[in-house]
Amino acid sequence: MSVEGYLPQDEHFATRVVHSGLDETCIPHGAIVPPITLSSTYRMKPGGAWDEFVYSRLGSPSRLIIEKAIAKLEDGKYGLAFSAGLSAVKAATMLLSAGDHIVVSDDVYGGSTTLWRHHTERTGIVFSYVDARNASLIESAITPQTKMVYLETPSNPTMKIADLEAVVAVCRRHPGIITVCDNTFMSPYFQRPLNFGIDIVIESITKYLNGHSDVVMGAVATNREDLYERLKLIQIDSGMVPGPFDCYMAFRGMRTLHVRMPHHMRGALHVAKFLEDHPHVERVLYPGLESHPQHELVKRQAYGCSGMLSFYIRGGRPEAMEFFRQLKLFTMAGSLGGYESLAVGPTFSTHVRNSKEELDSLNITGAMVRLSIGLESPSDLCADLDQALRAACAERSEGGGSTSAAAGNGGSAGVAE
Ligand SMILES: *Cc1c(COP(=O)(O)O)cnc(C)c1O
Repeated sequence: MSVEGYLPQDEHFATRVVHSGLDETCIPHGAIVPPITLSSTYRMKPGGAWDEFVYSRLGSPSRLIIEKAIAKLEDGKYGLAFSAGLSAVKAATMLLSAGDHIVVSDDVYGGSTTLWRHHTERTGIVFSYVDARNASLIESAITPQTKMVYLETPSNPTMKIADLEAVVAVCRRHPGIITVCDNTFMSPYFQRPLNFGIDIVIESITKYLNGHSDVVMGAVATNREDLYERLKLIQIDSGMVPGPFDCYMAFRGMRTLHVRMPHHMRGALHVAKFLEDHPHVERVLYPGLESHPQHELVKRQAYGCSGMLSFYIRGGRPEAMEFFRQLKLFTMAGSLGGYESLAVGPTFSTHVRNSKEELDSLNITGAMVRLSIGLESPSDLCADLDQALRAACAERSEGGGSTSAAAGNGGSAGVAE
């Protein structure tokens, strides 16, 4: 299903979601659902050779199915599944060696920066963080040692968009740079970065791909055989592999990706427009809004936008904390991409280990709220947000009694980029 104004959706995508990963040979007894293969090891043939599988860290039937499916959904040739999204992030940076330099967009997932700061930098890999909205800033950060450019778009939680085509064009002028894009916020339904020449796509399957908040898993996809071979060795040699139960669960969740994603978008757009006109909201960040400074760009490189949005409550941390306390339908929790709506403050969750200076420079403040819009009725979500905003901001605002929420604020008052 195409969304007007965005890239036209591949009309076969839904069929791929429903059928990829399986062929008749995968499933014994004519079953239409794949079995969960628990065996950790596989019998050798009498001559001392193995068939397809040897030992489950190296590969297992349950994992192979999901790896094939991920490749297909990302428009890639190869897919690999990992024990977590962060294992996939870790695997990508394990392609680098001491002395190598990596340019990263400045507001990637807090867990990724935590991993790199605490465990990767001391291996001698050098990180530079730049505002990836501007491809020329990426270009000026590139040195002869640069071996990787790592993007997340939209970024978390500030919803900045990197121009995939422009970044790839810059990197192609510097041979030897591997481009990586964390696509978790969009899922392959709404964005397929490999089609823009990105070398490696990363997904936290935990989020939209699984969609039911009951599995932690990650994946990479690529079209490059050389990178696939290296990443596969990293995967099996490090043991960052998912177990068969999780593979089964995630595969089951993924089968409805194309049914869920348009509803996430519809709900998020509804909520974003509602918040944009709300008197107790300072500014809304949702790439699907016309007021988003990069709305035109996202329409050129995506098939739509997901259920992720952020906003600044009018006031500060005390109002935000009261707002969270008042929510009834939204659950205050990290993570995203499930069928249920979640709300969280980045300063005390996803970005709790980032420094104050860093948060200030990214404009991640105590007044910021990140929402993952689930599959509930959008009007119920708006009603919940409305009552919580009113309760949290009531005492401090002059016109707080009105329910019309019509006092539009232009969407950007007072908040610097
Ligand atoms: C959650 C998340 C990750 C990490 O995935 P896990 O499955 O939690 O390890 C990486 N990137 C983004 C954008 C995420 O939201």
